[in-house]
Amino acid sequence: QVPLKPGRSLMDWIRLTKSGKDLTGLKGRLIEVTEDELSKHNKKEDCWICIRGFVYNVTPYMEYHPGGEDELMKAAGTDGTDLFDQVHRWVNYESMLKECLVGRMAVKPIAAPKGLPLVLLDFFFLSKCKILHFLLSFMKCLSAHFFSLSASLNNLNLLCFACLHDIYDWFQTDSLITVVIYTKQKDVNAELVIVDCQDKQLRGEIIIDDHSYLVEVDLDHAVSEDVAVNIAEKVGKVEIILNKKDNIHWKMLGQPCEGHNTFIKRTERGLFYRKCKLVSKTEVTHDTKLFCLMLPKGTHFRVPTGQHVYLKQIIAGTEVVKPYTPVLPFLPLDFQETPHHDGVHIYLMIKIYSHGLFTQALDHLQMGDYISVSNPEGNFKKSQVQTSEDLLLLAGGTGFTPMVKLLNFALTEVSCLRTVKLIFFNKTEDDILWRNQLEQLAHKDERFEVQFILSQPSKEWVGKQGRISSSLLSEFVKRSRRDSKVLICICGPAPFTEQGIQYLKDLGYSQEEIHAFTA
Ligand code: FAD
Ligand code: NAP
Repeated sequence: QVPLKPGRSLMDWIRLTKSGKDLTGLKGRLIEVTEDELSKHNKKEDCWICIRGFVYNVTPYMEYHPGGEDELMKAAGTDGTDLFDQVHRWVNYESMLKECLVGRMAVKPIAAPKGLPLVLLDFFFLSKCKILHFLLSFMKCLSAHFFSLSASLNNLNLLCFACLHDIYDWFQTDSLITVVIYTKQKDVNAELVIVDCQDKQLRGEIIIDDHSYLVEVDLDHAVSEDVAVNIAEKVGKVEIILNKKDNIHWKMLGQPCEGHNTFIKRTERGLFYRKCKLVSKTEVTHDTKLFCLMLPKGTHFRVPTGQHVYLKQIIAGTEVVKPYTPVLPFLPLDFQETPHHDGVHIYLMIKIYSHGLFTQALDHLQMGDYISVSNPEGNFKKSQVQTSEDLLLLAGGTGFTPMVKLLNFALTEVSCLRTVKLIFFNKTEDDILWRNQLEQLAHKDERFEVQFILSQPSKEWVGKQGRISSSLLSEFVKRSRRDSKVLICICGPAPFTEQGIQYLKDLGYSQEEIHAFTA
């Protein structure tokens, strides 16, 4: 993120897009863009970018881009889809840039080499899911021109499904429909299974390493809201049990949706959102609140430790998405309790910024209002903690949020940990989140220690003060034994995290010993 000039916030951008100004320079016309044409628009004062086949004139957006002009220029005049997916695939660019749409990329006819059917050629170069994607785009855009080709591609489509055929199955009784997914993977647990069933739409996603398998069907008949999910962890079998609304015999499960029965990289799967109800909002500090959201009845998912979700709201007619890291309702002192596993509620600790676009809108939600919540994301792996002897957590402000579940996990489930230390940087005493709970936890569990460091303390503050620095870190970040295995997790404002990582490296910690929480 770079500091933007005054008048260049997201809200200012939304206002500009609503002003009726011609942002493409094409007076509302949509055109077909050739690669040649696209490549000519590669300057700051004339910049077009292609994302997923659509071309946007991002020239007017330059000064509003939170990542800076230089980042945007990396894709100038080219297909920026991969770059976009790497950096922020969760941003709804279709909504943000809709007034900048120039048109579609023109499709180049592909010449097939003699004697080799085009469809086979593509089979060699594309993965199964890409073939499906490819097929669908072709069907949509070019069906009129490629009758014979689409027939061959249909056969290929079946071939792809045949490969995945034995992964899922379904059966019925008078009152139930059971969808069974055989992952053939060990240790499939509730954190890896995400099920949503609303309005006759069934979506069941299974995470297998960095891949995702999806069952997505428009059900043949109505089912009730209650959905049960059974997981046989050892054999990797997942059952989704639906209750029929009417006791009739189903001839088929339903119509497959676009991503149905595909096994693709997680990052290639679009984010899925469901509407959750705001059920409570409690004050944590003068500017930070704990929001409790209730999942719909047909939804089953757990946010794994160290992962975040995206919230989506329509603000002034534009979809705005921001990431938040679920916490627990409180820091459990009695480790028999597992409050985060009720499977129904998500707790978010959110700082409300006085000029914040998203958090102001969030704070204005009333009890019973709905907000869209995405599937979990993030690259933190619990195994990083499970092999450590010392866990050191560096948090700045709400950068504390990923540390909450992490602390609970470490102190309840990781027996090899000897020390767990939180070094918590805040501006003032009033900003410290869950200070009492942290102090109580430190009192109760001798492995845990907390250190508060204030950057703008009052005169009465007798504790440590300062900003993150090499000297503060060398004082507090230490191995309990000379050769002990350490994991250092860091989260806070981006420059805090970046500087922290650098200081840690200067102090001799390796990249493998550091995990930074970022989007
Ligand atoms: P914005 O409109 O983005 O503004 C934020 C602040 O910056 C305001 O004070 C605003 O006045 C100021 N500002 C805006 N634009 C500029 C500018 N150009 N120059 C200078 N100042 C500016 N936050 C939490 O509270 N809890 C969480 O659990 C949490 N989890 C996160 C997880 C991840 C992975 C990431 C990346 C972030 C997380 N955040 C979390 C931060 C969150 O996503 C939002 O960034 C935050 O809520 C601010 O959103 P906003 O739209 O209200 O503020
Ligand atoms: P804040 O109150 O502004 O700052 C917290 C502490 O960090 C203060 O001591 C502050 O010192 C210090 N700090 C701020 N900027 C710094 C910098 N450039 N260099 C060194 N120290 C700095 O923090 P906040 O408003 O709660 O913001 C929390 C941040 O964490 C947000 O940016 C949010 O996006 C991020 N976050 C990320 C994740 C994630 O990636 N998973 C999760 C949650 C939150 P000063 O008094 O000197 O400013």
